[in-house]
This record gives sequence, C-alpha cells and structure tokens, in this order.
Amino acid sequence: MIHPLIDTQLITRAKQLIDQAQTIVVVTHISPDGDAMGSSLAMRWFLQDQGKQVSVIVPNEFPAFLSWLPGAQDDVIFDKDPAAATALLDAADLVIVTDFQEPKRSGKMADWFTKNSATCNLSPATCPHTPIIMIDHHLHPSDMADVTISYPQCASASELVYRFIRQLAIINIQSSIYNTQYSTCIYTGMMTDTGNFQFNSNDAEMYEIVAELMRAGVNKDECYDKVFNQYHEGRMRLVGYCLHTKMRVFPEHHVALIALSSKELKQFNFRSGDAEGIVNMPLQISDVYYSVFMREDTDKIKLSFRSQGDRPVNTFAADIFNGGGHKNAAGGEHYGTLREAVNLFLNNYEKYCK
Ligand code: 5GP
Ligand code: MN
Repeated sequence: MIHPLIDTQLITRAKQLIDQAQTIVVVTHISPDGDAMGSSLAMRWFLQDQGKQVSVIVPNEFPAFLSWLPGAQDDVIFDKDPAAATALLDAADLVIVTDFQEPKRSGKMADWFTKNSATCNLSPATCPHTPIIMIDHHLHPSDMADVTISYPQCASASELVYRFIRQLAIINIQSSIYNTQYSTCIYTGMMTDTGNFQFNSNDAEMYEIVAELMRAGVNKDECYDKVFNQYHEGRMRLVGYCLHTKMRVFPEHHVALIALSSKELKQFNFRSGDAEGIVNMPLQISDVYYSVFMREDTDKIKLSFRSQGDRPVNTFAADIFNGGGHKNAAGGEHYGTLREAVNLFLNNYEKYCK
C-alpha cells in the first residue's frame, strides 16, 4: 500500500497553478545528478501528457552517463545559452523546480529566482511574478516557491514527483503517463540517490513504487548498467589513484579526506561526473564514519561530504564551506585555493566529526 504522503492542500494548490498554465519550465540543480535529471524529466513527460508546452532547463552540462535518459537530449543548458534559457523563464506561466530548495543551487539562474520571489504575487498585472512550485527533499527550503512540496524524509525528489503525480490522480488529474519513459526517469532518480538502494532505503513503500515502475516498463538492470557501468578508463584509474595515493585517514576522528588539484584531474582526463561516488568509498573502511572529497574546479573548490548514522555533515558544510545538504550527504564550495580548503578542513574536522 502506497499511502498519500503529500499534504492534500499542497496538491490542490499545485493543481490550480498547473491548470492555469500553458507554458511551463522545469528547472533542476547545478551539476545535475541522476535524481535531478530523473525528477525534472519525469515532470516534463507528465506535463506534456497534460498537453502543456514544457521545457527543462539545467544550469550546466549533465554527465554523459545520464545522457541516455528519455528526453535528456532536449534539455536546455543554461550556461551554454543563457539568453535563450532566460527567455524561456521569462515567458513561462509556471516554473517547477525539482531536487533543490534555494536559488543558489540553480547556478546562474539564482538571480532570476531571487528577483522573482521579491516581486509580489498579489496583483500579477502590475507585478510580473511567475508562480513557482518546488518539489524537493532537502532540509530548510527557502521561500522561493509559491507552493513548497518539501519532504526531507523522502530519499529522492524523483520518488516525490512520482507520489505527487499519483496523488494528482486521486483528485482527478488523469493521465496515461505510466509508460517506460516516465518510469525510467523516476526509477533512475530513486536508484542514484540511494546508491542503488544501499542507503536511505529502509522503506517498504519505496519498493512498492519500484514494483509499480517495473510493471510500467522499467528495466531496472538496464538502468543500473547504463548509469554505473559506463565510465571511461581515466575515471577508473582516478579511483585507484585516490584510494592508493590520495586518501588520508584520521583514525581518532574516524574521518577520511581526498583532495585533488586540477593538475591531477587533468592527468586522468577528468570529465563531468567522474568524481561521482568516490566520496562514498572511504566509508567502506570499518571505522571510518565521515568522508570528505574536494577537487579544484575552474573558479572554486568543490566539496562533498558523506557520513554514516547519526553524525551530521551538513553543518560542517554549511558553517565552513558555504554549503549544506542532508544529514549524511552534503556539499559546499570554497572560493580560494585548494591548500586553503584543505587547511580549513584540517582546522575544523575535530570539531565537526565527533
Ligand atoms: P554531492 O556531494 O553529491 O555533490 O552533493 C550531496 C548533497 O549535498 C546534494 O544532494 C545537496 O543536497 C548538497 N550540496 C552539494 N553541494 C552543495 C552546495 O554547494 N550547497 C548546498 N547548500 N548544498 C550542496
Ligand atoms: Mn536528490
């Protein structure tokens, strides 16, 4: 039995906004992962089925191992064509954001969202406010949306999209959307945000949803193969290098750190998505409970944090690295050198990793 999770009032208000809109833009977070891509694309398949004119905008390029997702090739990439993407946002009757909770996570679209929430939505004729629906599972949603569907207890935004559309059906938005394309997008988001159901996945209803998705045409083994078995040789050697040479373990605090310079990344022919999953690997050591991965990006240092059990890492990410996220999976960034970021880590891990 899959119980309705989302508050019926939120479903009703979202339905009104969808009913009133003809042109809808779906936006997801920067450095899109499987859940970002899955939740936004599934939403697009649904809205198209409702006869809407829909575009999906991603802030920057998505990794090659997600390019096979049904509809991904039609995504608009903001960084590649900001003018066209902004025109789409300006022309939208409704914007739906999935898998993020604050403007900053939409990359260069942040200004558009911040300005939009500053305009009043009381008299649309004089104040050009575009209504926003947020479907997300991160803590502390900002006030950027008019309807905020935020359930951090849900392991993926894709599962929330599935539940949202399922609950819309209960209040009479019928659709014939339970097809292979839609289900594959949802499944891939659920699979990737749980590390192929390794964590955050102690929930019987999750598997009932998976069963429904498989009945609707998902080939789960194929999804796994397309996402997890498609790396290039450089990525595999990078993993070896990280674990053999770069990983530092601080046993008294059960912490591991891997930090990579752009020079090192270049040696391994680094491509978008190649760092995926590396941060989780040190947690396979029996007494390592915290793992931090950082790499030098073009204009900043990008950090990933992971932990196990009741040991939050999002506060470390938020306080020291302008970031945030979930209790056991968070991220942040540092505008400065890799050395500075490593020193910030070294000066603070004892306080945050107890
Ligand atoms: P990842 O390590 O996979 O990039 O990110 C893990 C989680 O951390 C994401 O799902 C997101 O919730 C959060 N996160 C990653 N980077 C940032 C960031 O720069 N700022 C904030 N607030 N959260 C982030
Ligand atoms: Mn997610």
